[in-house]
Amino acid sequence: MGKLRAAAAGGLRRSSRRAAPPAGQGRKGVLPPGAGTPASAPAPPCAQHLFSDPAEIQALRRNLLAWYDKCKRDLPWRTLAATEPDADRRAYAVWVSEIMLQQTQVATVIDYYNRWMQKWPTLQALAQASLEEVNELWAGLGYYSRGKRLQEAAKKVVSELAGRMPRTAEDLQKLLPGVGRYTAGAIASISYGQATGVVDGNVIRVLCRLRCVGADSSSPAVTDWLWDMANAVVDRSRPGDFNQALMELGATVCVPKAPLCGECPVKKQCRAWQRVEKELALATQKLLGKPTPVPDVEDCGSGDCALCPPAVEPWDSGLGVTNFPRKAAKKQPRAARTATCVLERRGCHGAPEYLIVQRPSSGLLAGLWEFPSLPVAQGVQEEKQREVLANHLQACMGQPVAAGGLQLIGEVSLKPRRLQYKLPVLSCRVVHIFSHIHQTYVVYSLPLDGDVTWDPASSPSRWVTEEEFHTSAVSTAMKKVLKACEKQRRKESSPSTGPKRKRGAKMQRVSSTCPGTQLSLHAFLLAPTAK
Ligand code: SF4
Repeated sequence: MGKLRAAAAGGLRRSSRRAAPPAGQGRKGVLPPGAGTPASAPAPPCAQHLFSDPAEIQALRRNLLAWYDKCKRDLPWRTLAATEPDADRRAYAVWVSEIMLQQTQVATVIDYYNRWMQKWPTLQALAQASLEEVNELWAGLGYYSRGKRLQEAAKKVVSELAGRMPRTAEDLQKLLPGVGRYTAGAIASISYGQATGVVDGNVIRVLCRLRCVGADSSSPAVTDWLWDMANAVVDRSRPGDFNQALMELGATVCVPKAPLCGECPVKKQCRAWQRVEKELALATQKLLGKPTPVPDVEDCGSGDCALCPPAVEPWDSGLGVTNFPRKAAKKQPRAARTATCVLERRGCHGAPEYLIVQRPSSGLLAGLWEFPSLPVAQGVQEEKQREVLANHLQACMGQPVAAGGLQLIGEVSLKPRRLQYKLPVLSCRVVHIFSHIHQTYVVYSLPLDGDVTWDPASSPSRWVTEEEFHTSAVSTAMKKVLKACEKQRRKESSPSTGPKRKRGAKMQRVSSTCPGTQLSLHAFLLAPTAK
């Protein structure tokens, strides 16, 4: 692997210095990055990694676009991109979708996108919004800095570029904060018809399979190659549709674990598929007792191809096309621990209200609201942790807070996309995975008899009802903290009746507490028992 990586690194250095050839200017497929470099440079990739046949490229474009026209998903940003006559509005609509879709599933984005475009249909409208409004709308979508950067960039376009979006991928990337190579390529190709390729996770997978790229696809050298390929194959007359088709294929057909090769519109142009077919044919011949020719050597085999699978991890027949792409092992996320306290008081009609404070305007989860929280060191004893949190609350509220008054809630173990409750145990944790941090929230609660004032010098604060909490700019992690707290409360409030409660009994209690008023479930469970 080391030899190949070194070769890959060499490829990057050359490729980075090279001016990117304009897409569509007489290139016959992708030229090797090493072309024209000194004789000591690593050997260029073997032919199987290249798009060198113009007829094959044409077939790829034709098949992919025909499939896209027939099978594409109906998505709101696609409709806007196809129907909006104003180029700036069109680019803005695509830009918002591309930022939201980073690291987030299409199904999740649709509702956020529609609400965003309804609220801020133009760059000018977004430029006038406050960060608080942006965070509120973004709440739950994750990676909160995306919304902030989008709004900052909109302000810049309005104030410095006279409200006019840059018109090329190069200028978009150069002039707009938060717009990288991929987003710039997507906006330029979809909104302006610039013949430029895009490379995202889906495109990487498709291209690696189409051309049997088995080197580490996250390495800079291979990334350079993939951009070259994307620029070479993009359709010159419908670049936006072609790019979306490539991404759509990766999202719906050429999926990571069980690709639907039988339904794939470009299987005839797919080298990974061809290899699988060839192996199947040979195996069948062998079974039938027919003489089997010696199979072609598919990898370079010399060990210095920058794009072949490493010699120590060759093609595995059992994996088929999912041999590609390959990635270096992921870095483990950094572990972090935070003690957080749900401060609760009785509001109108006994309904609970919670104190939330605002995070600093920069850094992780900038400007979002949360329950009073404090980072704590790993491995700190629970007793010490509780004491540190009590001291923090005391300092910010200006009144004594006994460590013993903080109540542990229970243990919540949160895995990505899956929540598991284990109640009650000695420690109580909400584990939240950010992309680079494995965050554990240790949850306490403190019911208050009266009002408290939070020191504004520490952070802005406010009391919110449960409903207001859920519509505030709070992170998903904080919603999970409250959920864990409420679940424990319910359990404590009905230890003998068990989780199944009769509906009739519930309504009777509500009505006896506050006639004519529907309490939240939480308020109901904490209300005095009807006599
Ligand atoms: Fe992907 Fe299979 Fe299509 Fe190749 S044939 S591009 S592996 S779905």
